[in-house]
Amino acid sequence: MSEQITLNHFIGGQPAEPHSGEYFESTNPATREVIYRAARGNEADVAAAVTSAQQAFEDPRWRNLSQTRRGHLLRRLGDLIAANAEELARSESRDNGKLLREMRAQLAGLPEYYYYYAGLADKIHGDVIPTSDRAILNYTTREPLGVVGAITPWNSPLTLTTSKLAPALCAGNTVVIKPSEYTSATVLRLAELAVEAGFPPGAVNVVTGFGAEAGQALVDNRGLAKISFTGSTGTGARIARAAAGRFIGATLELGGKSPNIIFEDANIANAAMGVVAGIFAAAGQTCIAGSRIFAHRSVYDELLERVTERAQSIQIGDPLLDDTELGPLAFGDQRDKVASYVDLGRDEGARVLTGGRATDGGLGGYFYEPTVLVDVTNDMRVVREEIFGPVAAIMPFDTEEEVVRLANDTEYGLAAGVWTTNLSRAHRVAAQLEAGTIWINTYRAMSPMSPRQGFKNSGVGIEHGTETMKEYTRLKSVWVNT
Ligand code: NAD
Repeated sequence: MSEQITLNHFIGGQPAEPHSGEYFESTNPATREVIYRAARGNEADVAAAVTSAQQAFEDPRWRNLSQTRRGHLLRRLGDLIAANAEELARSESRDNGKLLREMRAQLAGLPEYYYYYAGLADKIHGDVIPTSDRAILNYTTREPLGVVGAITPWNSPLTLTTSKLAPALCAGNTVVIKPSEYTSATVLRLAELAVEAGFPPGAVNVVTGFGAEAGQALVDNRGLAKISFTGSTGTGARIARAAAGRFIGATLELGGKSPNIIFEDANIANAAMGVVAGIFAAAGQTCIAGSRIFAHRSVYDELLERVTERAQSIQIGDPLLDDTELGPLAFGDQRDKVASYVDLGRDEGARVLTGGRATDGGLGGYFYEPTVLVDVTNDMRVVREEIFGPVAAIMPFDTEEEVVRLANDTEYGLAAGVWTTNLSRAHRVAAQLEAGTIWINTYRAMSPMSPRQGFKNSGVGIEHGTETMKEYTRLKSVWVNT
């Protein structure tokens, strides 16, 4: 790096230096170049951000703003994201190694989330309740909660932050965000754009830093009215305990080990494409990755052949180039974790059909080949634990009943894919799968309008759609003796 870029926290509408004076470096995982240094947040920084958010929450400029005006601000923020899409896409691609192509597609859809919540802002209201006593008027109102603490991971910082920020602001809350220590840049830029859009200073604050330090300080801060977290199940459990002890709400979007099921009557060419996109997109670093693939024994060989052929042709390299199909893992430890899981799979008796090697992508980065494991069983750790990398485990099955049992035999319940041309079977299996999102003859479809929820250890609470507004408001019941 020719010159050192320094990123500070964003508190009260402006950059804020860390109380400790300390910074940490962030590297581009494709090249291992240091791209910037970011403020290392601690308890004092978090306290300043929460105080700023509390003041903004009480400020009449925000509190008395009409719901329609709140919607205007969200719309403007969506417009600003669209206007800055290329810069944001490049910045996030450099930060976590995601393909620029994938980032551009994500950025093309991101404003829609703000437009959706812009439209919802003046439709948040209570009801009049018809109680049995006609002399009594009973009505409900929906109020904002206060300061929302949002903690997000590195795999999709802008999108995953938006899933919290947009509904929280829509409901009239203010927010303190702690992005992942691996990806501070785009979330800081998002907060700047929020001020540019007209949100009052302090409505959106960002404290950068490490999970055990800045993240833990945010979770422990008594000024929070709610915590909204996306990340691993282990961290989620810790946050759930902290929130429960203070009786504040926690929306938790956690890990997954999603099944992708291919029945004998599926269009196998389409299913193979769905399998490949399901596991290799973003180098497998998505919570919804379809990492456990069950193929009916009669189509198992054909599916394997198609998936393997495609995996071997995937172009690994510079995520900024248009023809690259697989970028690096987001940081060195993540690449090592993926490599050690594949080694573990070998020890457990799995066979590596293709891939299975770390590479530097010709750039000195943290790449790992698209990998297909076979001869695996549902009790192996590579099949039970979230690897969060480009590693598919493919297994044959014989009956519908058997595959539903195998698919559900997991601690997770985030998503599932089903490939079949039999409509009755599609609905029957969807009803039996224990997962919050089911895709039939597609994978990864998503919309701000569509609510989603992790079952089992994949989460608590709902994101997106009108349903999520309940997570960011509280209900008051008013009784009037007329
Ligand atoms: P992680 O749990 O390690 O970290 C997530 C965030 O929590 C980071 O900002 C981190 O700094 C912070 N954090 C870590 N320890 C903390 C603590 N003690 N207190 C407070 N904050 C703390 O997860 P990750 O490795 O960044 O992300 C990958 C995980 O996220 C995977 O398990 C993936 O499945 C999950 N994920 C889930 C969804 C979903 O919608 N369900 C979406 C994307 C990713």
